[in-house]
Parts: sequence; C-alpha cells; structure tokens
Amino acid sequence: VKKKAGKYEKQAQPVKQTAVLGAGIMGGGIAYQSASKGTPILMKDIKDEAIELGLKEARKLFGKQVERKKLTNEQMAEKLTNIRPTLSYGDFGNVDLVVEAVVENPKVKDAVLTEVEGMVSENTILASNTSTISINRLAQNLKRPENFCGMHFFNPVHRMPLVEVIRGEKTSDVAVAATVAYARAMGKTPIVVNDCPGFLVNRVLFPYFGGFSFLLEQGADFQRVDKVMEKFGWPMGPAYLLDVVGMDTAVHANEVMAEGFPDRMAREGKTAIQVMYENERLGQKNAKGFYAYE
Ligand code: NAD
Repeated sequence: VKKKAGKYEKQAQPVKQTAVLGAGIMGGGIAYQSASKGTPILMKDIKDEAIELGLKEARKLFGKQVERKKLTNEQMAEKLTNIRPTLSYGDFGNVDLVVEAVVENPKVKDAVLTEVEGMVSENTILASNTSTISINRLAQNLKRPENFCGMHFFNPVHRMPLVEVIRGEKTSDVAVAATVAYARAMGKTPIVVNDCPGFLVNRVLFPYFGGFSFLLEQGADFQRVDKVMEKFGWPMGPAYLLDVVGMDTAVHANEVMAEGFPDRMAREGKTAIQVMYENERLGQKNAKGFYAYE
C-alpha cells in the first residue's frame, strides 16, 4: 500500500493559501499547525462557538511556545494572523488547497465537499481528513475527482508527525504532489497510501480498539489496561487514547470499518465503546470519557 512520497514532490504546484472546513479537534489543530509553519489558512465552521474553540486552542498552543521562549509575543501575534476564521465561503476563490475536517459522516462530508467544490477555482485541491471513509466513495459526487485525495492527520496534530496522503482511483499526480508538499511545509512526514476504508494506520488501530472493548466487556478495569499498555512501552493506553480521539468519532469510524471489512470488524450487539458514546461520555471534548477532565 505504500508508495514513496518523494517522487511526487517535483510536480508540486505552490500551496500558498489554504483553508480548513471544521474548527473542531482536528480542524483547529490543522489551522494551528499551518499558521505556525507560515502558511495562511481560512478556518471555516458552521458554528460560532466552534470557531471560538478552535481559536482558543490555537492561542493556547502558541502561548506554550511563548512560555518556552520559542516565540516572542510579537511573533505569536503575527502567526495568529495566519488563521482567518470565517462562517462563509466568501474568500475561497483563491485558495490552493482545502482540507475538509468536518464530522465523520459520509452524508455530511458529501454535502460539504460538493458545496466547497462550487466555491473554489478549478485548480484547487480538495483533501479530506476522514479517518476511515474511502476516498473513491467520497469522490463519487465530485465534478473534479482528479483534484481530490485524502490528507489524514493524527491527533493531536501539532505532536503527531505522520500524515497519510490517500490516492483515489481518479486522483491526479498533481493533487498528490500538492498535498505531499503542504504536509512537508507543515513539518509533517507524509506517506502516500492507496485507498480503502481505514487506509493504513486505522486498519491497525481499530482492531486494537475492538480488542480493548472485548476486554472491558469481559470485566477488565480500563485503568489497569492503560497502565499495562504504558508499561508495554506505548505512550498512552487505549482508554486515554479513545478520550483524545472522541467516542463519537471512534464509533462512526468503526461503523465505516465494519461496513468495509464485515468479516473482521462487524460485531453482534453493542461494544463497550458504543455504550460510552450513548451515555454521552465523549472524552476530552466534553470533559468526560473514561477519565474526567477539567
Ligand atoms: P469534531 O467533532 O471535533 O469537529 C467537527 C467540526 O466540524 C465541528 O466543529 C462542527 O461544527 C464542524 N462542522 C460540521 N458540519 C460542518 C460544515 N458543514 N461546514 C463546516 N464545519 C462543519 O471532530 P474531529 O475529531 O475534529 O474530526 C473531524 C474529522 O477528522 C473526522 O472526519 C474525523 O474522522 C477525522 N479525524 C479525527 C481524529 C481524531 O482523533 N479525533 C483523527 C484523525 C482524523
């Protein structure tokens, strides 16, 4: 599934102005990372509160850089101007690349991608940050599927080096090249992978979450499992990681995986993770998941 990212870079057209759709956990993180590395980004959401949260998160992360004396207050102020929050598509006409980071729901993504395609120029690259939904599936309703690919960041965006660039059947080399170049400009390590539900990393991660869920259903204590996995050498255990990811995103992503790989991923009955979701224990985003947050 892996192709060398380097071969595409020679074909890259410049990515000078970007946009992100969705100012949530991922959209906010993508906006911060782009701004921090000097590429201006429009951050669009449908809710004022989401934009406020996205900006608050970016300010917090820049603030930490100032505390560590990596940035001065003036540099922070300047970098913050790279993020332009918006509720409209008004300025999308001269955007080179748009990252779509709205909720993990194929219908919502279809609507948003079709909408934004009508607002950008015909050379603009559209890249989806979907965790699991096939890029060929999302390309179905687009007029210019050659300009579309996946750009899958990991959470938290500012800390996780990897970005999967997903090439759909109709994705052009030019689109892959621009996306790889933008990932590198953001200080990330892109890998180009072929399309299928879950791509590469989540085909490993979601069976792991499934295994964790089984343990809980058989009576395991989540804190002990987390401690054991930390001693095993992983930076955090599965319960804490699910709190970071968000139970809603994990459940929706798992549904896509179960549809794509029914023999391996589909299960009878509710998983422990679904029960958490139904009890509105979403994780860090609403301050209560497996753990409680301030
Ligand atoms: P989130 O719930 O934190 O944020 C989603 C945001 O999208 C919300 O602010 C919502 O208001 C906004 N939104 C909804 N409809 C919109 C529209 N029509 N236009 C603009 N904004 C709209 O979700 P998230 O965790 O940031 O996930 C976003 C995407 O990133 C999903 O596809 C998810 O699978 C993927 N992803 C998530 C993680 C993770 O760990 N959470 C990791 C990698 C990828």
